Amino acid sequence: MTEQFSRRDFLSTSSQAGLAAMFAGVAPTVLVGADASPDGKPAVLGGTAMNQSSYSAWPILQGDEEKEMLKVLKSGRWFRNHFGSEVPLFEEEYAKMCGAKFCVATNSGTSALVSALAALDIGPGDEVITTPYTFIATINSILGHFALPVLVDVDIDTFQVDGKLADAACTENTRCLMPVHIGGYPANMDDFVEVGKKRNIRVIEDACQGHFGEWRGKKFGTLGDAGCFSFQVSKNIPSGEGGAVLTNDEMLADRIYRSHYNCVGRRSGPNDYTHGVVRGLNHRMTEFQGALLRVQMKHTAQYVPIREANGRYLNKLLAEIPGVIPAKLDDRVTMNAWHLYMFRIDPEKFGINRSLFLKALNAERIPSGGGYGHGDWVEFVRRTYDTPAGKRVYPKPVLDKWEERVRHLPQFEKVYSQTVWLQQNMLLGPKTNMEIIADAIRRIQKNAAEIAKG
Ligand SMILES: *Cc1c(COP(=O)(O)O)cnc(C)c1O
Repeated sequence: MTEQFSRRDFLSTSSQAGLAAMFAGVAPTVLVGADASPDGKPAVLGGTAMNQSSYSAWPILQGDEEKEMLKVLKSGRWFRNHFGSEVPLFEEEYAKMCGAKFCVATNSGTSALVSALAALDIGPGDEVITTPYTFIATINSILGHFALPVLVDVDIDTFQVDGKLADAACTENTRCLMPVHIGGYPANMDDFVEVGKKRNIRVIEDACQGHFGEWRGKKFGTLGDAGCFSFQVSKNIPSGEGGAVLTNDEMLADRIYRSHYNCVGRRSGPNDYTHGVVRGLNHRMTEFQGALLRVQMKHTAQYVPIREANGRYLNKLLAEIPGVIPAKLDDRVTMNAWHLYMFRIDPEKFGINRSLFLKALNAERIPSGGGYGHGDWVEFVRRTYDTPAGKRVYPKPVLDKWEERVRHLPQFEKVYSQTVWLQQNMLLGPKTNMEIIADAIRRIQKNAAEIAKG
């Protein structure tokens, strides 16, 4: 094992409170006997598990939450429209932290996407280009407007939606490009911005997994026309539920605000009740969410360099193991967001398929999964529009034609069936934790033939 160093680096980037919380309940790493070495027998075949410690909990309480939330509770000001309210302060702080001009806070990431699409007047028959490799909320935000999600294939190296294919998939009905930064790794935003400009189509980033990430030094979610975030409890800035839209376009900011606020507009001075400018609903964030989020936002920034150092280190270690292919980080990624750590298992080169691999890795006490189990998007969209209104807007020949465009996604199929996810909190420990993960995977690979026999 290499030096126990990263403790020091780690201390320099972490607050005491954060550190204490991070290691609360974490037993020291004790390797029991020779069996728990990379050369020992895999745990799935009866050996000692490689990992003998536990990972950081998530979310992590930072200490000020109780005080700040009680303040809101006792003030009786539970709604955003007071002088000095938490939600407008959060919007100001988040916009500033991300380098965006405007922010509209919402009650979820899904609401952020829905509000942004409403602001663009997306409706029945409109096409929104996006990725099949995403959480169902991306697709639902499009279906919620009765629009058509046009799925284009992913880049096999980065696992992200391919901007060049997005260009080719545009038709006269395409109204929006919605790249997703899945796993907190960025979609190629140079490509998407270029296609958007060339075709005069707006770009909305689903940055719900992309907090703190940077492409060419600019934060994810500020590269397109608008960027949507989620603060659901698993995300890298958590508040249970919550969301936000960022934009630099004042007109768009006004429309997003209206769409999240039952059409009511914000300007300087009193609210603007000119309704009917844009379709509106209520997607507002509560003051409790705002108070919690302001504390979490400030403190979770400390974890960003830790994940970045550990994630890149793990990339290096795993790339040396036959059949293990970490998701590639483009040179333009100046800071990855690491909502997940993602790698592919090539079953031929590795020796076993993903499902056997996951069983073996979990036996080594390294919690891991295969990602979303949403099944078939074509089936899902067909079922969703199998209603009287759905059939009126999308009669069978229209959906048949759409299916021809989105059915064949070979790179996605590969990524979907071969990718392994580790949760972001596993990147929050010392560097040696990365070595234990790599050792466990190496051990599984070396014994793949035996594991395959069962
Ligand atoms: C979490 C997430 C959403 C939705 O966010 P919620 O806050 O859960 O509504 C949308 N897109 C992606 C990619 C997500 O990961």
